[in-house]
Amino acid sequence: MKSHAQVVVIGGGVVGASVLYHLTKAGWKDVLLIERAELTSGSTWHAAGGMHTVNGDPNVAKLQQYTIELYKEIERISGQSCGVHITGGIMLAGTRERLDWLKMAKARGRYLGMELEIISVEEAAKLFPLMEKKHFKGAMYDPIEGHVDPYGVTHAYAKSAQIGGAEIVRHTRVTDLKARADGSWDVITDRGNVHAEHVVNAGGLWAREVGRMVGIELPILAMEHQYLITGDMPELVGKKEQLHAIDFEGEIYIRQERGGMLMGTYERAGVPWSPATTPWDFGQDLLPNDLERIAPSLEVGFEHFPALGAAGIKKVVNGPFTFAPDGNPLVGPIRGLKNFWVACGVMAGFSQGGGVGLALSRWMVDGDPGADIWGMDVARYGDWTTLAYTNAKVRENYSRRFSIRFPNEELPAARPLRTTPIYEKLEAEHAVFGDYCALEHALWFAPTRAEAEDQVSFRRSNAHPHVAAECKAVQTGVGLLEISNYGKFDIRGPGAAEWLSHVMANRVPAVGRIALTPMLNERGKLIGDFTMCRIAADHFFLVGTYAAETYYLRWFERHMAAGVSVRPCAMEYVGLSVAGPHSRALLQSLVRDDLSTAAFPFMSFRRMEIGMVPGYVGRVSFTGDLGFEIWVTTDYQRALYDLLVKAGREYGLKLFGGRALNAMRIEKSFGSWAREFRPIYGPFEAGLDRFVDFKKSAFIGRAAAAEEKDSGGALRLVGFKVDATDADAIGDEPIWHDGKTVGWVTSGAFGHRVNHSLALGYVPAALAKADTTFEIEIIGERRKAHRLAGAAFDPAGALMRA
Ligand SMILES: Cc1cc2nc3c(=O)[nH]c(=O)nc-3n(C[C@H](O)[C@H](O)[C@H](O)COP(=O)(O)OP(=O)(O)OC[C@H]3O[C@@H](n4cnc5c(N)ncnc54)[C@H](O)[C@@H]3O)c2cc1C
Repeated sequence: MKSHAQVVVIGGGVVGASVLYHLTKAGWKDVLLIERAELTSGSTWHAAGGMHTVNGDPNVAKLQQYTIELYKEIERISGQSCGVHITGGIMLAGTRERLDWLKMAKARGRYLGMELEIISVEEAAKLFPLMEKKHFKGAMYDPIEGHVDPYGVTHAYAKSAQIGGAEIVRHTRVTDLKARADGSWDVITDRGNVHAEHVVNAGGLWAREVGRMVGIELPILAMEHQYLITGDMPELVGKKEQLHAIDFEGEIYIRQERGGMLMGTYERAGVPWSPATTPWDFGQDLLPNDLERIAPSLEVGFEHFPALGAAGIKKVVNGPFTFAPDGNPLVGPIRGLKNFWVACGVMAGFSQGGGVGLALSRWMVDGDPGADIWGMDVARYGDWTTLAYTNAKVRENYSRRFSIRFPNEELPAARPLRTTPIYEKLEAEHAVFGDYCALEHALWFAPTRAEAEDQVSFRRSNAHPHVAAECKAVQTGVGLLEISNYGKFDIRGPGAAEWLSHVMANRVPAVGRIALTPMLNERGKLIGDFTMCRIAADHFFLVGTYAAETYYLRWFERHMAAGVSVRPCAMEYVGLSVAGPHSRALLQSLVRDDLSTAAFPFMSFRRMEIGMVPGYVGRVSFTGDLGFEIWVTTDYQRALYDLLVKAGREYGLKLFGGRALNAMRIEKSFGSWAREFRPIYGPFEAGLDRFVDFKKSAFIGRAAAAEEKDSGGALRLVGFKVDATDADAIGDEPIWHDGKTVGWVTSGAFGHRVNHSLALGYVPAALAKADTTFEIEIIGERRKAHRLAGAAFDPAGALMRA
């Protein structure tokens, strides 16, 4: 084994092999993969090898498409067969809701160029005669589905990488990792050490253990997973290979395996494997079968596909593989560690392995993953992902793998975990809670405890009239909203203003003022949006998306300068917001400061005493009304809440929640991180031009942003008034124009203050003209969508400035 390498990849499963291949493809030749045993010695060797393109996150779906297309390339380079069988696949719907879900999946696939088709039960049965028609209501057909040989794929990646210059060392275990002062690593193994500039943790089943070598606890857990292979079936003799099928109600997947069928299940009562530590002596082993655990699924399976039941079981496989809490991979650099990268938690290695390798190699070589991979960025998790939290969430995700997640559905595992001091008070007001970064927050308020439950649906739900009442209260009186679930940063030091000016695209505000600002990467794309509040010349309070806290910190640390300190303080400061025409009178009754527009204009920020409570008050509101945001340390939140509620009685104060806020921000065409603002859009495309200050001589992304300004950008974020009846857009629906899919929805909701269904979405810039008509496909139906010239509510922004 060589003693120095530019990169050491730890782990020779399908993911590590893919990373190695992609690094060589990107031009890095001095790369070394170290494998404890033989290649495929983790979860890879006993995988069922199934692959498909459909994924809830369209950006992950794109990388899945890429993976499947890659197999031809690595077969050609390596001469090693991947055993690719593209059979096509059907997803079978047993309920009306599932058929709706499939129609939505089909619609989402449209703008990704996927040729998905909704077919009748009759058509499905022609394609897949093993099914018993009476159990199904319809299906979706995908021509690009199939299965591969896990051994063949891994070796094809590995050989292709070796041809590209990589070295692979087997039977060598990495036992420790030691960081050097210059950011390089000593990779300690049981057969000598290697000095590496970069280390990639592709340890699969042992990724947690490799993480612990550098002091991090990665949120992954392995689950036992079982599939069985039936005896040979006369029904298959002389026929072409059967399609892949997913039966959601049975929670099973099926495909042909030689003369029989392979049937796997994601059972409700899933069992974690080695929840705390993975034994190093686990190799190409299988776990004992537990058919009793999967019996309920098998029963449904044999009823829905009777020929399988008749064929009998020839073989059962029970093996572990890893999941992150949301089931998507963990990819990217780790905040706080230089040159340490992860590619783990990949639960669908044969659909995603190629995309993961591509994204990570680009990130390492070019400094940017080259695609929007927020959905699999390791930085989407923060320090709330304890071992037990991960355990609860992974089990929940596993058991729901084939369940529908409705847009208004909140999942119960690991809750309530994090709460703010007013949690019980909101509960007493019949709040329906959601969790965000494991923190409870009110979504809407029901009139009685008995009604305080979401009836899950793709259509307008039981919450609709209550959310309407909350929006109306804000429009005509005053509403109170908890705003604790934002990321917050305390930024100080003599260099703070200069640093912020470099990292953010907008100008730094004057003391006592607020500025909204996008944050751009070097390619001029949006990687954050913040509210910058200036407390003093050398002191700022920065508010942004909480889920992106680690993501932001990783970026801040990469661009850190002397004379500035950045401290995350999300849970140190919690907040309440009052919004609506009476909000000023209400707050004025509690503070000595003059809140008139003359004395405290829109976008002001100041320390005030609200009754006995010290806090910071900002004159902004995400609802687009006259409004104020109040930030206090956690110990004062209850007192502040009681004060506002008591004083608010006189003004008809009404509590409102996240659903109403979302509807109101869409009425104002205000974008939101991970929806309208993502690293695939530029600030001009996103309509944030006025927040990019070209008077500044330099800031990150300036040159690329200037180019975008000159060219106008390829896309444009547009607001739509949608002719919807009982279902509103929620996001990711295709936007049609002239019989073609031209864009996609980023957010949608019913706008109660304007009494219309609304959506925001991106279309080609050339089409973003006032007189263009569009259609938005909502649950399989194309609805007329009228482009709005400005915000649907108070387009001039007069109310918030009043
Ligand atoms: C029963 C079953 C069925 C499945 N079916 C499918 C399917 O149909 N389709 C699909 O896409 N996926 C399927 N999977 C999941 C698939 O197997 C995983 O997505 C994939 O194997 C993940 O690969 P990996 O490289 O991340 O991890 P692993 O395969 O676990 O590889 C990690 C490698 O790292 C090595 N390693 C770890 N630590 C060290 C160290 N310190 N030093 C040296 N080497 C180390 C290990 O020996 C191992 O070889 C299935 C899994 C199971 C168990």
